[in-house]
Amino acid sequence: MTSQTPTVDQYSLTVDADDVVRETLSNVGDTERGQAFEDAMSAVRCADSRTTTFILPASVNLDLDSYAPDNDLTEINDWRNVLTSLEDSGFAKLARVLTEDSDGSYASDDITVTAVTVPEGFKVVEVRYDYAPMFGLGRIPVTGGTVGETWEVPAGTYIVGETGNYARMDTVAVAYLEGTDHDAEDLFFTVAENEEFGVSRASSGCDADETHQWEAEGGSWRFRGEYAGGEAPDYDFDDAEDFSDDTHACPVEGCTGRVGYTVY
Ligand SMILES: [Zn+2]
Repeated sequence: MTSQTPTVDQYSLTVDADDVVRETLSNVGDTERGQAFEDAMSAVRCADSRTTTFILPASVNLDLDSYAPDNDLTEINDWRNVLTSLEDSGFAKLARVLTEDSDGSYASDDITVTAVTVPEGFKVVEVRYDYAPMFGLGRIPVTGGTVGETWEVPAGTYIVGETGNYARMDTVAVAYLEGTDHDAEDLFFTVAENEEFGVSRASSGCDADETHQWEAEGGSWRFRGEYAGGEAPDYDFDDAEDFSDDTHACPVEGCTGRVGYTVY
């Protein structure tokens, strides 16, 4: 398992959640092929008020008339819950693979990893309507439109990594896996045990005395010497002083060394 070098400053001991997710997913699957999915979801999230995004089976091709208002096609416009609306529309199945809370880890943001199984390829089509100028109440007449860009998403399993907080999660990487029968529990171990996925344990050590070593876990700032198999006195990261270059002064009385960190 490789370790992450965290950003260390007063009251800040974190690894960048986006980096962790990107590096992990690039080991888990094909992030270049995952890009097609990321682009399609991003088109839905970014659609403006004049644009409607439809989701269709990959094999279906429609002309502009088919997209006329009152069509019975499936719109996918819920940018806050793109993944859920994908599942609701029947084009994908979701399984939560992993959730990492920033409070219970050293990650800078919350992390979620979701497996999105796409049994049959689909496409997201952007349609932009032209509206007649109209004043007053009532429905605004559509006078025409344009079928804009199309994003094709082939069948397979997409491992979607998101970061953020309770208010908003953003997709930072998507890894593609061949096949549609991946087990969520197996995927959990594939992600959580990946060498790049290190957010929950931290170790610290002094450059002047090799017995000054500590460990902490679960996002805790209480560093314990005994956890590292030594007898250095415990310390709280809150009480550390004299920060520079991601290190701080050794908390052991009389020691002039610098303490550095790894997260894994
Ligand atoms: Zn020391």
